[in-house]
Amino acid sequence: MPSSSEKDVNHGDRAHAPFSPSSTDRFLVCPAAVPLAEKLRETGSIPCGSSKHTRRGEAGHELAEIHLAAWTNPEPDTDKTITIHTRDGDPSYDSSGMSTTQAFKARDLVPYVQPYLDAVREAYHDEMLMFDKEDVTLFVEERIDIVPPDCYGTSDAVIVTPETLHVFDLKCGDGKIVSAEWNKQLMSYAAGWCAKYDWQFCEVHLHIVQRARGDHDLDPHSIFICSTDDLKEHMKVLKEAIKKSQKVGGSDGAGITGDHCHWCPAQSVCPAQQSLALRAAQQIFEDDTDIADATLEPKDPVAMSDAQLQFILRNAKVLRGFVDAVEAHVAEKMMNGEDFAGYKIIEGRSSRTWNPNMEDDEVAAALDSAGCDPYKEKLIGITEAEKQIGKAEMQILEIDGTIVKPSGAPKVVPLSHKSPPMDRTLVFKGEDIDD
Ligand code: SF4
Repeated sequence: MPSSSEKDVNHGDRAHAPFSPSSTDRFLVCPAAVPLAEKLRETGSIPCGSSKHTRRGEAGHELAEIHLAAWTNPEPDTDKTITIHTRDGDPSYDSSGMSTTQAFKARDLVPYVQPYLDAVREAYHDEMLMFDKEDVTLFVEERIDIVPPDCYGTSDAVIVTPETLHVFDLKCGDGKIVSAEWNKQLMSYAAGWCAKYDWQFCEVHLHIVQRARGDHDLDPHSIFICSTDDLKEHMKVLKEAIKKSQKVGGSDGAGITGDHCHWCPAQSVCPAQQSLALRAAQQIFEDDTDIADATLEPKDPVAMSDAQLQFILRNAKVLRGFVDAVEAHVAEKMMNGEDFAGYKIIEGRSSRTWNPNMEDDEVAAALDSAGCDPYKEKLIGITEAEKQIGKAEMQILEIDGTIVKPSGAPKVVPLSHKSPPMDRTLVFKGEDIDD
């Protein structure tokens, strides 16, 4: 392991598992997900899966690995960089038209990585109080077989003791907030580790550390404790799902659509998605509309029945994902040199930015000599203030009215959504509203 955080990363040496733990949510529900994705992978036409956010996650994991192995903390103002290389020969990395390497400043990754390092070390220290040193083992970025040969993965960090197993997952994403509770991805890893240790554990602790949870008033460290019986059951379900998936392949009718389709690499070619899109199109457009007609106009929602509106809302996420996947697939073809009738590929909009290869001081000096004051005093944000003075002081500021929370824009969600219904009487004063 390198002893400094100056490191180049090449993920090409990580093998690809068809039934990877990160796709557990998908293949447990949809037997077609893995066979269709594998077929695309074989033909080299998987849409680009390597966004800047994915690469930032990889860089965060590398920084965490370095500092866990060296038992150090990254300097918050370090100038070190982590460079991510694309995966040789993997079309999901190569054909996006993006640069094949990307450098991330380690200091930008520290807020994501430090809470994770703290969480792993805290659990390790706690276990060291209970057991002899030689009975507590920390594994960092270790491959684990779950259901060989096609289901395996690399765990971010794992602590093994004679009685307890800790499985950690570092999440660097800011979008989707993730919890450790019954988390299928972590349960898959944990089941693999339990099997490796002959199910010796009394308790299994699943940990997810995600900085962005803090933005939603949640502890960045989410912990869920389960038993080996829970994981044996999960392993059984995994094996059944893999067997079923291998049996049905990507045959028509095998796909089961739902929220899990969002990250499915096979969306653009999935027969189940296509038939859903067709049914939705039949609801939205006039029955006698020719779908191939480029000038078709959708129905006015006001003229649609409640059943039609419910159908569209129920499937909106899947449909948006399908359209995005079709666009990504066509972009992929065109970036590979194919022509696509009626379409061309252009550079997307981008905003001017200070040169990321220059230090802030260099940019400030250039502005200064151009006669411009480069810095202005600005109120700090609520998250920064809470970091400085703590939750208790923030509550006082809330009570005295310094902090207010304006109402969010109304949003239609399914009844199962965990937020309470909006108090519509505040908007429609004097009217009877039946919630
Ligand atoms: S897009 Fe959805 S339905 Fe189609 S294969 Fe993927 S997970 Fe299954």
